[in-house]
Amino acid sequence: MDHFLYRDGALHAEDVPVAEIARAVGTPVYVYSAATLLRHYHLFDEAISWADDHLVCYAMKAASNQAILKLLGDAGAGMDVVSEGEYRRAKAAGVSGDKIVFAGVGKKPGEIRTALEGGIRQFNVESEPEMQVISDVATSMGVVAPITIRVNPDVDAKTHEKIATGKSENKFGIPISRAVEVYAMAAALPGLQIVGIDVHIGSQLVDLDPFRLAYRKVAELTDTLRAEGHEIRRLDLGGGLGIPYEKSNLAPPSPTDYGAVIRQEVGHLGCEIEIEPGRLIAGNAGILVADTIYVKQGEDRQFLILDAAMNDLIRPSMYGAHHDIVPVIEPAAGVDYQPYDIVGPVCESGDTFAKQRNMPPVKAGELVAFRSAGAYGAVMASEYNSRPLIPEVLVQGDQFAVIRARPTFDEMVNRDTIPEWL
Ligand SMILES: *Cc1c(COP(=O)(O)O)cnc(C)c1O
Repeated sequence: MDHFLYRDGALHAEDVPVAEIARAVGTPVYVYSAATLLRHYHLFDEAISWADDHLVCYAMKAASNQAILKLLGDAGAGMDVVSEGEYRRAKAAGVSGDKIVFAGVGKKPGEIRTALEGGIRQFNVESEPEMQVISDVATSMGVVAPITIRVNPDVDAKTHEKIATGKSENKFGIPISRAVEVYAMAAALPGLQIVGIDVHIGSQLVDLDPFRLAYRKVAELTDTLRAEGHEIRRLDLGGGLGIPYEKSNLAPPSPTDYGAVIRQEVGHLGCEIEIEPGRLIAGNAGILVADTIYVKQGEDRQFLILDAAMNDLIRPSMYGAHHDIVPVIEPAAGVDYQPYDIVGPVCESGDTFAKQRNMPPVKAGELVAFRSAGAYGAVMASEYNSRPLIPEVLVQGDQFAVIRARPTFDEMVNRDTIPEWL
């Protein structure tokens, strides 16, 4: 459920007409709903509230604007970060270090140092060389780094190959078959404190079975490692629960069902439970609003040429992803739908959002909205084709604010430096 609904014939973001935002800020623009973000966070929080100790660490790579982080952080969320930049953003938004988890396969010594200086809940270690570096940095600073080790359970997440992470051929984590050996190595290194186990098998999972399989393996591993004398008190179970991108499709399982699977598989272990959802918190909490520049009649098809392009929302060209695209003015009941190829102005054929998509008739100058664009949308935007970085707006009730302004052409152009010797 989200808060982007037609009211009095016009698409609204909560209580604000989307067209009013487009008028004030221009297009293309991302618009987020605070109520939807909070609703999703609370659903997850409740789904694991059976665990005495639990924390939802929002995977902020999905949408990392500080206004979003502050909103979620104030509601109680921790953050899952994958770079020093994300760590700094989370801190700048007021999230305390003891609620920040540092993930990612390639943490550099400087990043580790920054996190140890500013405070960190735990590092999720992805390899032995990285474990060694964390030990070295912590020892040189005279501190102890809390760690989990990310295990790769070799489970098929049954999702898009670019976002599956839990198979043995993926670059993530250490093979679960070697976990005993690697935990022993960690216990022997100075400057490290083992606090638990981490697993994350992929993104946009629409079935609970892969989670169940992975968590069962984590439960077995917990028993094994405890028998070896390690203190396993925290399980970080990753993110990855999918969202419905197509209204017509069957909805993926709810956070509530997901929380029940966690309880069934690992609830008896008495561990603190951490989860790292990103997409499900932000995905349906954001839309991308674009203007129709031209409707072009091709030889055998009609093109809707929008002012949004692949540089603003890359998911369709990168993953072949589907986004529902709806007119901002509510179509009249019973209107005839027509097939359109919906494209942006960028000079690549890959700059295509949808082919032969049935839509109510759209005219030049009319606004459309891409639904479910809140996650992996704005964060993946670039200035390709020298199109200024797309702005972001947050709505709460009847108020809205620009939370990242569109750079002016001058700001964008003047970022380059021409060497004196040219
Ligand atoms: C990307 C990522 C997540 C979030 O995945 P979603 O599918 O957005 O929920 C969580 N944990 C890790 C380690 C990730 O890399």
